[in-house]
Amino acid sequence: MRKLAAGNWKMNGTAASLAEVQALIAAHPAPGCEMLLCPPATLIAQANWAARGSILALGGQDCHAKASGAHTGDLSAAMLKDAGAAYVILGHSERRADHGETDALVHAKAEAAVAAGLVPVVCVGETEAQRDAGETLAVIGAQLDGSVPAASTAATLVLAYEPVWAIGTGRTPTLEQIAEVHAFLRDRLTARIGAEAAGVRLLYGGSVKPSNATEIFAVPHVDGALVGGASLKAADFGAIVAALSAA
Ligand code: PEP
Repeated sequence: MRKLAAGNWKMNGTAASLAEVQALIAAHPAPGCEMLLCPPATLIAQANWAARGSILALGGQDCHAKASGAHTGDLSAAMLKDAGAAYVILGHSERRADHGETDALVHAKAEAAVAAGLVPVVCVGETEAQRDAGETLAVIGAQLDGSVPAASTAATLVLAYEPVWAIGTGRTPTLEQIAEVHAFLRDRLTARIGAEAAGVRLLYGGSVKPSNATEIFAVPHVDGALVGGASLKAADFGAIVAALSAA
């Protein structure tokens, strides 16, 4: 399995930010893991051009469940693919919270993404209140069952565990907590899609930074990271890529 370092720029970045893409590629021309950046959709085509000939893949941060039609302001998976994307993040907690996205909608979007030739990076994760209530595994299991298409394979799915309370907060679960959830996700995914689950990359996301990446990547069933804030600077994201390459 080739591990995956994925960056999520969220609603950050303009054309000037493409310098960070170029710096990342220049510093890591042949990393020992796959590198993915998901900039705002407005930058995918330009970032793809900047990344031509390199190992860097581009991705979107969301797509519509329909292939085309009267959906003002939305983007289809095929449009992202056309712009140069190979992946799309789906069901990020910010989409679930800000736009009321349900597991059923994430499932439909994941099917649309695969139909268009994109690999969905499906996100699951508990809130702090859910963790405090001892509901973490139940919540994540239900999200997985509801969001992941049953026909998924190792080539058509990446799954990201992102505790909501760890995103953008500087707080992270203990290594034991990450290990517990990732082992659970591997088992639950096996129950859902069968033996293909062994090859699906399970990413940890939530305040990953250069200073904690190495210890997180040593946790069993952590096959990479989904990185928000620390992916905006090539130096920080590059350090995380280096840590994953060495893991
Ligand atoms: C994210 O938004 O996917 C994320 C993990 O953010 P951060 O790394 O900033 O916590």
